[in-house]
Amino acid sequence: MTSDQHPQSDPLAEAQERYLREREKRMRDDGLAQYKEFTGEYEDFDRDPWVEPGFTREPVEEDRLAVIVGGGFGGMLTSVELARLGIRDFRIIEKAGDFGGTWYWNRYPGCMCDVESYTYMPLLEETGYMPTEKYASATEIFEHCQRIGNHFDLYPHALFQTEMDTAEWDEAENRWVITTSRGDRIRAKFLITAGGILHKAKLPGIEGIETFEGKSFHTARWDYDYTGGSATTPMDKLADKRVGIIGTGATAVQVVPQLARTAKEVYVFQRTPSAVGVRDNGPTDEEWFASLEPGWQEERMRNFTAAVTGEKPERDLVGDGWTKILWENTNIQAESPEQRRELDEADFAVMAELRQRVEDTVEDPDTAEKLKPWYGKHCKRVCFHDDYLPAFNEPNVHLVDTDGRGVREIGPKGPIVDGVEYDLDLLIFASGFEVTTGLVRRLGFDPVGRNGTALSERWSDGAHTLHGVLTAEFPNLLVISTVQAGFGTNFVHFLSESARHVAWLVATAEAEGIVSIEATPEAEDEWLMVLYGVAMGLAEYSATCTPGYYNSEGSRTTEGARNLVYPGSLMHYAGYLQRWREAGDMAGTTVVRS
Ligand code: NDP
Repeated sequence: MTSDQHPQSDPLAEAQERYLREREKRMRDDGLAQYKEFTGEYEDFDRDPWVEPGFTREPVEEDRLAVIVGGGFGGMLTSVELARLGIRDFRIIEKAGDFGGTWYWNRYPGCMCDVESYTYMPLLEETGYMPTEKYASATEIFEHCQRIGNHFDLYPHALFQTEMDTAEWDEAENRWVITTSRGDRIRAKFLITAGGILHKAKLPGIEGIETFEGKSFHTARWDYDYTGGSATTPMDKLADKRVGIIGTGATAVQVVPQLARTAKEVYVFQRTPSAVGVRDNGPTDEEWFASLEPGWQEERMRNFTAAVTGEKPERDLVGDGWTKILWENTNIQAESPEQRRELDEADFAVMAELRQRVEDTVEDPDTAEKLKPWYGKHCKRVCFHDDYLPAFNEPNVHLVDTDGRGVREIGPKGPIVDGVEYDLDLLIFASGFEVTTGLVRRLGFDPVGRNGTALSERWSDGAHTLHGVLTAEFPNLLVISTVQAGFGTNFVHFLSESARHVAWLVATAEAEGIVSIEATPEAEDEWLMVLYGVAMGLAEYSATCTPGYYNSEGSRTTEGARNLVYPGSLMHYAGYLQRWREAGDMAGTTVVRS
């Protein structure tokens, strides 16, 4: 169609109308509640497939300076920071059978890091490791977690296959009293929670899900006994299997090409298409890597974060799809209608290019149309892959688009969409993780602070914190999570900043004879106002987005509102922490000294 035929045609305005229509299709009253707790058949869906059953050990009874909950990058980086400050009197409690967190659980075929390995994989300089590729595989990252564990001698500190049971503040002794699923009883001055953001897998509460008679599992609990193969070899047992996958987020984008290679038939059930940019992975240039000067990794991490938060550093060191797409931050409060229009046009241009990529790649025009993302670039995490879209050209791969409704019903044979029941041997849930539900729910235990108050009670209307780290009535509880704290495209950068902050708090308390530290309620309120102030500017943009975990499935509850992530740049959030540490006066806290 030419502009002569439609003199008033305005592609941006048309796209914006479409964005709102697509959002409306997907808004639902149950928001976050669409993902349910399961009983019966699925109660056990998040059982650890990577350990032998029957593990036992003697319970531990001890007194420690700190207990760290979580052995993913958050817990490991905190341990390393503590060790750097000369503190080794800590215990790590981890549900899984090894270090690694999300990289322990996620071993699905095709799993890899979507952020460049030189900025994502921490402590490369310290461990002397060179990633083999620009975007490392999950296997390589998991191995790196073990490398960090060995290099910094963290294994003796860890209690694996152990879950927190209770944690209660003992006012008289100024200690946390911790019990675990293995009968341990540990007293600790500091309780540091680094529970991670991608560890609580969620299943959609689809009607009839329990009636499905075939095999099913979540991507974070891949069953290679059933599929055959491994994370690095083809799934040879799928040759005669009809496989369905629910979800088309970052995980599914990596899984689908692998299924396409080996399964007899693949049905991809789609609610909202992902935006999929160019990946262009390749081996590490060894000469370049050897030429990097000491201190390069921290510089590169900061440079990447600056580049993807619209800070436009002088040089774009990483120069990949992320920095290209997010270079211009269009998710900000505009100062004038003209600036808004400019930002919207920049956003539109990026998304139009991603939609064009679908059209250029997917041969069947109807399928291509359905795979096009109709929302702004900050609404959902952009994916990068070079094999996902071409997979839809394979005769064994079928897109089952639900026009925004999602799969609403599952029968004994498989998902039912538009009256058709898809007959499947295997149904894979690539349905993601709980990212914005309450922290206590995701931690899996409920700390009890001063006067017997549980965290879930004090936070019944949502979180109350200073910087997302300290909270009133819970002395020496140090939280590493996204709730009222930072976030970032490179999540490990956020964790590095938090780990540094938390370790500094512990070391400084030790050095200054501080017995306990907690936030004041006034400081918590002030911090919330800071968060709201930044969020207000962004609310306008978010209101145009299709639902997803970035906006708590579009939900608008008080709890959801308080549990927000620091909505500005990670660099700004890190700046708050740094200035606070540099001031050295522990502003906004109640401190008891010995
Ligand atoms: P997501 O939450 O991003 O995706 C879940 C998917 O399930 C969405 O496509 C969602 O649709 C869909 N869904 C939910 N319910 C239904 C339903 N009833 N019918 C049909 N579809 C449904 O989870 P992922 O595991 O894909 O990714 C989570 C995060 O993990 C990523 O954003 C990323 O941060 C991280 N990740 C990182 C990787 C990396 O390379 N570092 C790789 C993989 C994941 P809808 O969009 O409509 O809600």
